[in-house]
Amino acid sequence: MGAPAVAAGQWAARRRRAEDLAGRWPFASEVLTFYGALLGAQERVYEAAQSLPPAHWSDLSRLAAYVAERALPPVREVTVARGPETLARAVADAPPGENGLTGRWEETVSRWLGNGDLSPVDRYLVRAAAGPVLEALGAAAAGVGAGPRDERHCPRCGGLPQLSLFVPTDDSLVAPRRYLECSRCASRWAFPRMTCPACGETESRRLPIHAEEGATASEAAGRVVRGLEGAGRGAAPGPAARLPHVSIHACTTCSRYLLNVDLSREARAVPVVDEMAAIPLDLYAREQGVAKIVPNLMGL
Ligand SMILES: [Zn+2]
Ligand SMILES: [Zn+2]
Repeated sequence: MGAPAVAAGQWAARRRRAEDLAGRWPFASEVLTFYGALLGAQERVYEAAQSLPPAHWSDLSRLAAYVAERALPPVREVTVARGPETLARAVADAPPGENGLTGRWEETVSRWLGNGDLSPVDRYLVRAAAGPVLEALGAAAAGVGAGPRDERHCPRCGGLPQLSLFVPTDDSLVAPRRYLECSRCASRWAFPRMTCPACGETESRRLPIHAEEGATASEAAGRVVRGLEGAGRGAAPGPAARLPHVSIHACTTCSRYLLNVDLSREARAVPVVDEMAAIPLDLYAREQGVAKIVPNLMGL
């Protein structure tokens, strides 16, 4: 319902943004350089899945088998070759998806789609491999994902939100609209600005917003706490915020948070990439005792 479509060419846009930010944000360069390489493998998975007829995705078991056989191998390969050391080693040690072990991965994919618990390395692999397939499915993803279809879950696949974003409207007098972006299929849905996406809390004093030192308090409501100084590796060189368009939207009722990417302040932002790059904000959020609703692909 009126959600901005993730534009065609999203893979190239993500890669460009990862490359751009990797050069500008040293604290995220390792993660983003690898993510750029992974995006190449994911784009090929996406294109192969998109070329299949919708009938191919008739049920969950066919999707799980496809992910295990076709999507997992290239994701493993690029991760072992180019991933950050710890992740690369963990993935190299994980059982492969071929040679008779495909069944285990089918089960793992099914568990992920049912919002079940997974080890960090399984979660990474399944998400990196199945995500582009779900994205390629589009509306057909509705038939395979479990989970409630309430406003706190993706209306398409039932996944939890990875991030929040503000999108400018055509009318300059109207505040930017808020959307949530799905952690599984990347679709977006509209969501009220001052409501916790985890528990539904609406009382503004329980919904603090933390922004980096130097960011301006543009949010219409909520407290803006400036206190990121010293968070993460290396303090900011000056008063200018490194991530002025990204902020922590927390909830003290359920102790959860999401990062919000404000496209009205940074039109070049690609939310899924900027969210992954905003490592100092995640470290700061942890210090505040709040946990992300669902960790991002890199486990933050
Ligand atoms: Zn979804
Ligand atoms: Zn909450």
